[in-house]
Amino acid sequence: MKRRSWIAAATGVLAALAAPAFAQGYPNNKVIKLTVPFAPGGTTDIIARVMSEPLGKALGTTVIVENKAGGGGAVGALDTARATPDGYTLGIATVSTTAANPAINPKIPYNPVTDFTPISNIAATPNVIAVNPAFPAKDYKTFLEVLKKNPGKYSYSSSGTGGIGHLQMELFKAMSGTFVTHIPYRGAGPALNDTVAGQVPMIFDNMPSALPFIKEGRLVPIVVAAPQRLKELPNVPTFKEVGLEPVNRLAYYGIVGPKGLPKDVVDKVHAAVVKALQDPAVRKRIEETGSIVIGNSPDQFAAQIKAEFDVYKGVVDKAKLKLD
Ligand code: GLU
Repeated sequence: MKRRSWIAAATGVLAALAAPAFAQGYPNNKVIKLTVPFAPGGTTDIIARVMSEPLGKALGTTVIVENKAGGGGAVGALDTARATPDGYTLGIATVSTTAANPAINPKIPYNPVTDFTPISNIAATPNVIAVNPAFPAKDYKTFLEVLKKNPGKYSYSSSGTGGIGHLQMELFKAMSGTFVTHIPYRGAGPALNDTVAGQVPMIFDNMPSALPFIKEGRLVPIVVAAPQRLKELPNVPTFKEVGLEPVNRLAYYGIVGPKGLPKDVVDKVHAAVVKALQDPAVRKRIEETGSIVIGNSPDQFAAQIKAEFDVYKGVVDKAKLKLD
């Protein structure tokens, strides 16, 4: 072994020895912080707030939600990645923070596959393009006609640069031959506010945060990313139906810790997620948002993050997507 690699190997062993392999008594009544890497009002925030109380109950402690928005979710995700791996700082990992953003932005300061300890994917959610009611289209066919006739006239809001809303809308534009200007926000919450207020005519969002506005008629759904039409929106086609299958991907919202989380902590938090998701009231609150309850194992969630990251790298390469 060359001297350099020997030193690297020895350092790795020391680091492994220094990491706590077992966290006795966790959580020891200590507060657990769950970081939401987007502003309040978005889907990440909604899922975290549905889960925090039942999770705390199952773990015998309090789970507090902390919003840390910025960089299309990268700021909050980095906060989780750099935390001490003791189980007291966990975060919600989304398709944006672990797949879309790292796939398009080479400057993302963490590796989505190696810098986290995945625990469980809580929910999968459909996505939607929705327009302000003043937009001159209420259905997909007219929407496409309006965009084709007016390249560059309209803009869309998203939860942030490099997020699923940004990438999937760019993919939609590339595939449909349309042009709409991107306006990124610090999360879907503020993006929705401006779209409902008419400052931006349309949004690409995840269903849970958009659905209440759609139900109130303050946003009009045009097309959804979902395996089949949603029972809440039976008249709205899927991207697959309109010939844009690559855009037809779900988002995910799961719990991760920093890399090196002790196995017993992972097991305890995973068991708490499973227990919380067995509660019919919790399931109902998630399902009412248009989401699908998942609750998979740490290994399955790790494999899912890796697979989704690869998918988005493929999307970025194939459609030659770039940050503006
Ligand atoms: N679109 C983001 C995602 O899927 C979530 C946005 C938000 O929660 O504000 O990662």
